Amino acid sequence: MIKIRKSDLPTLVALLCILVIVTVGVCIWLIPRNGGKNDGGGDKNNGTETVDNGGDSGNGSGGGDNGGGKNNDAEIIQNGDLSVHFLELGNKYTGDSVYIKSGDVDILIDAGSKNSSAPAIISYLDGYIEDGILEYVVATHAHEDHIAGFFSSGSGAKRIAGIFETYEVKTIIDFPRTESASKTYQNYVAARDEEVAAGARHYTALDCFKNQNGASRKYEIGDGIELEILYNYYYDHDASNENDYSVVVMINYGENRYLFTGDLEKSGEDKLVDYYAQNFGGLKKCVLYKGGHHGSSTSSNEKLLSAIRPEYVCICTCAGSGEYTETVPNQFPTQAFIDRISLYTAKVYVTTLVTDYPSNKFEPMNGNIVFLAVNGAFSVVCGNNDTPLKDTDWFLQYRITPPAWK
Ligand SMILES: [Zn+2]
Repeated sequence: MIKIRKSDLPTLVALLCILVIVTVGVCIWLIPRNGGKNDGGGDKNNGTETVDNGGDSGNGSGGGDNGGGKNNDAEIIQNGDLSVHFLELGNKYTGDSVYIKSGDVDILIDAGSKNSSAPAIISYLDGYIEDGILEYVVATHAHEDHIAGFFSSGSGAKRIAGIFETYEVKTIIDFPRTESASKTYQNYVAARDEEVAAGARHYTALDCFKNQNGASRKYEIGDGIELEILYNYYYDHDASNENDYSVVVMINYGENRYLFTGDLEKSGEDKLVDYYAQNFGGLKKCVLYKGGHHGSSTSSNEKLLSAIRPEYVCICTCAGSGEYTETVPNQFPTQAFIDRISLYTAKVYVTTLVTDYPSNKFEPMNGNIVFLAVNGAFSVVCGNNDTPLKDTDWFLQYRITPPAWK
């Protein structure tokens, strides 16, 4: 038993005070560090299910380290037969950029959404492209959210290098028609033509489909893997909207089909289905379909879906963005799109989530989505999480679950 004398009390109280102050100080020093770790990287450190191929997000700073990384998943992707990457674009704006890797052959379809997306796309591509060469670039149509990252922009400290400046491009395939006279389109053409002057081949999608002017309808990009340019009626007819001019791409991986329709809308889709039914025995079932026009209600219509019966659907979009409409069911991915696609698959994945439009708050939904093929087996590995759309908090809050997904 320790006896405490009255005369010792002041000393003891002083010692206790010092102890309390030191303890509180240590706690304050520790808490923000643990908190920061959980915010920043917690969901990427927990296992083999997800691939650390992204996750840079937050508040519109653009760019950031969303490079491919050199962890196990990145190596599986690197060594897989074929991978298709639906990219986050470093901002709150919807747009497309899809990277396709088949061995040493690197393909980029579109470079949206804004000029500021270029660093995000380049940072990602640099995780996979070792020789600085993009063998194929496809620009689907003249809208900013598909071509803004191709050309360089800004000046001085704010200068941003675009895709054409950063990589040596071997072959550029783009839209035969456009009504656009926008500065964005003019900048795209200037940068494309500079790349052609430096040695790139340039073909329109119609050249490719017709096997004319040196172009080919099909390019072999791997063993039993082809990049095929499909025919779209609006390659050589006037359309009532720019989206219907979109270049349509099919990847043939053995007997498996991957379909990319850009922002093709109902008229373009219907004509695509009819043309292939009349001339090629019909479009075949597609294991992968890039959700047309970012999940808009005007695309992915029943006629197309019943022809291709997609198994996996990946969408480059910012879920819940008010960029185009304040009407919640019409924000991408729209309720109408979800109702139609639900009849075919529940394997639907979305790159980005806008948490507070028009402020700059956005975060990854699935993040960068990789659709991977290894020896004919398919899987989806995502930068943030692998949760299908129907199970996300955003979906449960803002969408009505269609009967097929119940
Ligand atoms: Zn678009």
